[in-house]
Amino acid sequence: MPRGLTFALLLGLLVVPCANAARSPAPVHADIQVRIDPETRELTGKGAWTVPPGESLAIVLDDRFDVRRFTVDGQARPAEPNHDGRRHWRLAQSERKARRVEIEWRGPLDPLEAGLDHRQVLRHTVPVTAPRGTFLPGAAEWHPVFTGRPLQYTLHVDLPLGQRAVVAGNLVADRSVDGRRLQAFQFEQPGPVIDLMAGPYRAVEREFAALGNRTITLRTLFHAEIADLAAGYLDATERYLRLYERWIGPYPYGSFSIVSSPTPTGFGMPTLTYLGIDVLRLPFIRDTSLGHEVLHNWWGNGVYPDYATGNWSEGLTTFMADHAYREQAGPAAARELRLAWLRDLAALDAGQDRPLREFTSRTHGSDQVLGYHKAAMLFLMLRDTIGSDAFDQGLRGFWSEHRGSIASWDDLRAAFERTSQRDLKGFFTQWLDRAGVPYLRLESARAVQDADGWRVDFTLSQDRPVYPLRIPMAVGTGPDQQMHWVELDRERATFSVRTSQPPGSITLDPDARLLRRLTEGEAPPILRRVMLDPTTVTVLAGATGAGEALARRVVEHPLQVRSTGMPLPAAPLLLVGLERDVNRYLARHGLPPRPAELAATPDRATAWVWTATRATGEPVTVVSARDAKALAALGRPLPHYGRQSWLVFEGGTATARGTWPSRPQSVRFDR
Ligand SMILES: [Zn+2]
Repeated sequence: MPRGLTFALLLGLLVVPCANAARSPAPVHADIQVRIDPETRELTGKGAWTVPPGESLAIVLDDRFDVRRFTVDGQARPAEPNHDGRRHWRLAQSERKARRVEIEWRGPLDPLEAGLDHRQVLRHTVPVTAPRGTFLPGAAEWHPVFTGRPLQYTLHVDLPLGQRAVVAGNLVADRSVDGRRLQAFQFEQPGPVIDLMAGPYRAVEREFAALGNRTITLRTLFHAEIADLAAGYLDATERYLRLYERWIGPYPYGSFSIVSSPTPTGFGMPTLTYLGIDVLRLPFIRDTSLGHEVLHNWWGNGVYPDYATGNWSEGLTTFMADHAYREQAGPAAARELRLAWLRDLAALDAGQDRPLREFTSRTHGSDQVLGYHKAAMLFLMLRDTIGSDAFDQGLRGFWSEHRGSIASWDDLRAAFERTSQRDLKGFFTQWLDRAGVPYLRLESARAVQDADGWRVDFTLSQDRPVYPLRIPMAVGTGPDQQMHWVELDRERATFSVRTSQPPGSITLDPDARLLRRLTEGEAPPILRRVMLDPTTVTVLAGATGAGEALARRVVEHPLQVRSTGMPLPAAPLLLVGLERDVNRYLARHGLPPRPAELAATPDRATAWVWTATRATGEPVTVVSARDAKALAALGRPLPHYGRQSWLVFEGGTATARGTWPSRPQSVRFDR
């Protein structure tokens, strides 16, 4: 599986939040027993719910299930439910008395389809089962859901002996009786629904000595074919728990499980992560994505974002996982990651670059850029502004104050204001509430020698509306670089910095630490620019059937197709076709031919993909193939390579790829 695919896939991990846990009413206590037969695809359930006094509520259960028994305080309920969109029963409540509801239900589950791709899996809210695996998402309402109330549960699961189940919470019993496996789970942390997974798992367990003499059970539940990966995953989990316990505070739960799925899934829930078998096989999952998922037990499933006012948890998790691991690897690795984020941001058009506060969860590629990467950059700039000590203390304070409850961007700001002793209102407002990002230019610079030595005078400008910014400027003196931070709070200003040595150059933000729109030279074109732009025009040059099918997979908006005979459109261009027709089109319209980087490729190459920028500024993406078959082979892989500037394919395999080099805004001084 290509790296790009898996990155896109894993960044889409759906954190199933324990929504409304904090400011919501007292939890419902449930004692539930379910029996699942993966062979016959049948589920039988029975449970008792104690509902504390409060407002009346609805009890929802998916239509597929027959209700065998339904009593409230021992009295049989009229069996007729209400139907307004979904089946539900109204439970009238008194102000003083708790009620006891008992329900028995039974019904069929859907077959598991291993062929689903990740987007389908994310949308798929039906309960599925097979001997290879069972996934009952809570959103599928496979158990009675008491709406608006958090749930504390004991769940007993009865499966054929070769199967094991897992849900969020602690495994409190596990035994085999008469060819069946009976397991019990408890979870005290209130959440609205239960997500249940099961499969023919080999379980490997390990005890981890956590902060404060606590013992945490680490567990892999893997299919037999990847059972040998267990130790590596458990080692990595220990490393992440150690890192985040020291950095933030104690891990909030009693266990953590890594569970394999026969579908290419990526889900994160409190106390566990559920990942496709093929995904788990990729070595970098353990080194990056697993840590990201472990950290969500603090951010997302330990403190819950206030979705109404914006989801901060993905940005903070990306900053403290993905970005932090790159920083551990070295400054160049971290810089590369940030540059990739800023390039993605430059590939968005104005309408897509919405205020960060509007990000609540992920639906499209552009939301990932926004909610994950833009937000992660906010945390980097915050740390650069208040310093690492105040930043880390702020995180710990935020955790101890809001653990187990809902918190907003404002709560985060308050935590950092306390530790930094600064008013951060302006900082958060400008990065959260404004659409777009600043556009900065180093307009001019000169080196001056005066009576006191050397200095560099330089002018910076930014587009309106103006952002107050702290900007890192690197002055090169011989082999060294000196960083100077300057503050720009208007459209244009001239600055002066002194150097002890004769200066050789000055560079604006060379490490990509500022959230800003890169200039053309800084952001060489990548495929994503044309994929995401709703104004992209597609031209098909030969093999138009295969070309159009490919374009449909690559462009995220309805296709706007022009014929080769029409004038060159004044818009982003996707040119797809056969080598000879593509070359002819490029020549006729004065567009550059296939770049040298792609020319010297082995004879086995069947397709070439590259980006360029026209003199007028519009981006161009060219897909040039030997024949229609070679075009068709790109349908699966190509959409996952949005971050590349060029690729060479042999059939469906990318054998070479890269991004055009980034040229920072820099002025050299002649001496
Ligand atoms: Zn995440």
